Amino acid sequence: MATPPVIILLGAPGAGKGTQAKRIVERYGCLHVSTGDMLRGAVSAGTELGTLAKQFMDAGELVPDEVVIGIVRDRLAEADVQKRGVLLDGFPRTLAQADALGAVLEEVSLPLPVVVDMQVSEEEVVQRLSTRRMCRGCGSIYNLSREGLDVGDACPKCAGEIYQRDDDRAEAIRERMKVYNAQTAPLVEYYQSRGLILAVCAVGSVESVNDCVMAALSERLGG
Ligand code: AMP
Repeated sequence: MATPPVIILLGAPGAGKGTQAKRIVERYGCLHVSTGDMLRGAVSAGTELGTLAKQFMDAGELVPDEVVIGIVRDRLAEADVQKRGVLLDGFPRTLAQADALGAVLEEVSLPLPVVVDMQVSEEEVVQRLSTRRMCRGCGSIYNLSREGLDVGDACPKCAGEIYQRDDDRAEAIRERMKVYNAQTAPLVEYYQSRGLILAVCAVGSVESVNDCVMAALSERLGG
């Protein structure tokens, strides 16, 4: 049987990682592991992890490395990941997380990752984040200027409530961009120097970005 893939989506908040992630997992059959979704789930469920994470998330800051590394390590050790492979969305976000991930992949005998760097300007992501809307029911991602859906509307896919993430408000967006530039952007160089990066221009329609992502991935992974 072919080795299950490990795919990392790198890119600033709002680069379109969540949107492309859904399409990639459909194509490659791997599991979608989004640390942001896992943490938001913990916040909604009111768990101890959620209570701890919420204060960092609302401020646009990163949840401490040891907490996030712990939840990813547990998830990657599960049998379904070993069988189907994984797409990591929003992890790693610091050099310490990247080092920890390398060690975990070795521990659980998963291959080196393929890293898709979704490149987009800061101006564009600030615009996208401030108009981003989500569905509470199915997690679909919309944009006020693209689909015209706003807070309180019904999701066209599942009739769930459309909402705006607390960290998609102006002040948190500014903080998240600062954090991204200081802590996450250096990961491009980290993976570049290991020959693992696929650079993709993430500007344009969802479809055209998806064509570029799929073309880059299939060169590396086949399929
Ligand atoms: P995201 O949905 O990926 O934009 O993540 C939303 C928020 O969750 C981030 O702004 C962080 O507060 C937190 N978070 C998600 N992933 C990580 C991570 N790998 N490391 C630290 N914090 C994270």
